Amino acid sequence: MRGPRSVSQGDLAIQDLTHGARLTVDLAAIAENWRRLGAQAPDAACAAVVKADAYGCGLARVAPALWAAGCRTFFVAHLSEGISARAALPEATIYVLNGLLPGLGPALVAHDLRPVLGSGEELAEWAALAESAGRRLPAALHVDTGMNRLGLPVPEALALAGDPLIARAGIALLMTHLVSAELSGDPINARQAADFARVRAAHPGIPGSFANSSGIYLGGPAHHDLLRPGYALFGGNPTPWKANPMRPVVRLEAQIAQVRTVSAGETCGYNARWRAAEPRRLATLSMGYADGYPRAASGRGMALVDGARCPILGLISMDLIILDVTDAPGAVRGTSATLIGDALDVDTVGRAAGTIGYEILTGLGSRYVRHYMTGHDA
Ligand SMILES: *Cc1c(COP(=O)(O)O)cnc(C)c1O
Repeated sequence: MRGPRSVSQGDLAIQDLTHGARLTVDLAAIAENWRRLGAQAPDAACAAVVKADAYGCGLARVAPALWAAGCRTFFVAHLSEGISARAALPEATIYVLNGLLPGLGPALVAHDLRPVLGSGEELAEWAALAESAGRRLPAALHVDTGMNRLGLPVPEALALAGDPLIARAGIALLMTHLVSAELSGDPINARQAADFARVRAAHPGIPGSFANSSGIYLGGPAHHDLLRPGYALFGGNPTPWKANPMRPVVRLEAQIAQVRTVSAGETCGYNARWRAAEPRRLATLSMGYADGYPRAASGRGMALVDGARCPILGLISMDLIILDVTDAPGAVRGTSATLIGDALDVDTVGRAAGTIGYEILTGLGSRYVRHYMTGHDA
């Protein structure tokens, strides 16, 4: 499995050099991951969840790449994201997961977006909107099988069997969301599957969507008609219990601004949280928590320099990170350090920061230049 190739200095446009850090997003890898996920369930269609600016990778570039790969259905969280997605995808089916917030109906209609309706109130409001528009306005119905977050409780969804409100509200998709998909042995997965099967049986003829990235790997009964992966498209491991079947997508690199040697007893960074026990070589990277690299990884994360693992020392600053490059003798001013990429995949970085890779991706900063690889470029 090949990661995004690193781009040598000579290939960089001038705008890539105006900030000391660079995010590279491999669009070809995203398309390949979408195909791999779809191949797990040949009888289902595969959608793409591109909320939070396509998990920090940039919706405006990611969405057309997925469309070109054959993806036709997209999910976002907010109306604003739906409007951006519609601008990038004039013909796609776009669902807004957070549903119908009060007063947003006309804007959803204006941008040809489908709300994922999550309550009787939302259903009635959307049906009324369709009536006044004089045409069918498609939407999805979210059924809550355990999250207690969004969606109609199972008994309410069952009680709506045969109710004309379902047709009036244009329900074109029934969906629910897994509580613990990444814990493949958790009995709640089977309970949710059984509840969702009952709801689907009560509403024959309406397609169903059940599986997020990890849910796809729970096997056939989890597949239904439409897969809803997000994280795995962007290189996150949908199967934490085994090796990552996805291609890596994101590479985050920062340049070394300065290198210095400290003697035993010296400290570095705010509040002197690290102290040298012996002479060490330190490098200061031109990137900090304002670039989306989590401050919680202070003293725990690492970067790769010339293939060597270099620990992050002391507290991460807003714009700077201090590395111990004693084991990377080639590190000099201008050398590039990898913070995400190669052995440091997003799941590993998430663990180092006491969080999950999802938060690392969605927190990726907007300050540095994003470099997109399409598979055709160098
Ligand atoms: C975010 C989200 C997804 C995608 O989940 P991943 O774990 O990122 O694959 C699917 N469905 C719903 C309802 C979501 O909120």
